[in-house]
Amino acid sequence: MVRDYDVIVHEDLRIANMTRSASGTIEAPGRNVAQKSGLNRSIVDAGWGAFLTVLAHKAESAGRELIAVNPANTSRTCARCGHCAKENRVTQVEFVCTACGHTAHADVNAAINILGAGLALRDAAEAA
Ligand SMILES: [Zn+2]
Repeated sequence: MVRDYDVIVHEDLRIANMTRSASGTIEAPGRNVAQKSGLNRSIVDAGWGAFLTVLAHKAESAGRELIAVNPANTSRTCARCGHCAKENRVTQVEFVCTACGHTAHADVNAAINILGAGLALRDAAEAA
């Protein structure tokens, strides 16, 4: 990745762990607890944090940019028109925008949003 790309963008897991808390809300206490705790467990199992640590060191030594973005709504926002709704996410893998009809693999749609957010942060930093 560091050899092939000048800029690498990823979701900030410290924010993900907060926003994807399994504790639920006042309106819907504990909803999706099993699903969300499963997500958190899979992140731990994959050693994602360890991977990002290695990636950060490799990127720095190669002079590449590594950008972390807020993961909120990256998977439920349409990469084509920007419409954000949980109904856009039909299944774990299927994304269908209820506003413009854009369809994509849910991970690809989210990846485009993550890249866009990272490049926007980069542009803002360069303008400052
Ligand atoms: Zn759309």
